[in-house]
Amino acid sequence: MFTRTIRATGEKLTVAHPEEIGLDPEGGKWVTFCEEHKTHVYAATQSAAYYTHGIDFCDGCREGSPAPITKATPVKKATTARKGNR
Ligand SMILES: [Zn+2]
Repeated sequence: MFTRTIRATGEKLTVAHPEEIGLDPEGGKWVTFCEEHKTHVYAATQSAAYYTHGIDFCDGCREGSPAPITKATPVKKATTARKGNR
């Protein structure tokens, strides 16, 4: 198991086997654990666990993170009601 800090948000995430940190191993082989908010999520592979960030599963991280990367700029579809005649 290992713990790393996500630079973007500052959260500390531990990637481990569930039994290493006292969790039920039935959920999956790997688990990503947020040290800050004591939340976790299971993953099938180590790399999946590794690439899971706090904002993916942790409400605390989500609230603490200023700008989710996933939030793209909204496409403003201005309803320019042109009625075809010019
Ligand atoms: Zn968190």
